[in-house]
Amino acid sequence: MQELRIDMSACVARGLCSEVLAPRLGRDEWGYPWAVDESGRGTTRMPLVAGEERAAREAARLCPVRALLLTRVTPAA
Ligand code: SF4
Repeated sequence: MQELRIDMSACVARGLCSEVLAPRLGRDEWGYPWAVDESGRGTTRMPLVAGEERAAREAARLCPVRALLLTRVTPAA
């Protein structure tokens, strides 16, 4: 499984990623991106579902400060 991680220390809140990955990735009132986890809380880690990898790669490519990282994760047993 792949996951998109947002490095909030690098993000400059331009919002390109949330445009590419809407509605899965939203923005707060300052323009910083956030995903929603299973419990409805905002998170900087977005597990990708089928068909999202291409858009996630495009978002990572477009990010002007390389604050998005696609990484492979192993689901918990
Ligand atoms: S594209 Fe990059 S800099 Fe812009 S909001 Fe997304 S993570 Fe932040």
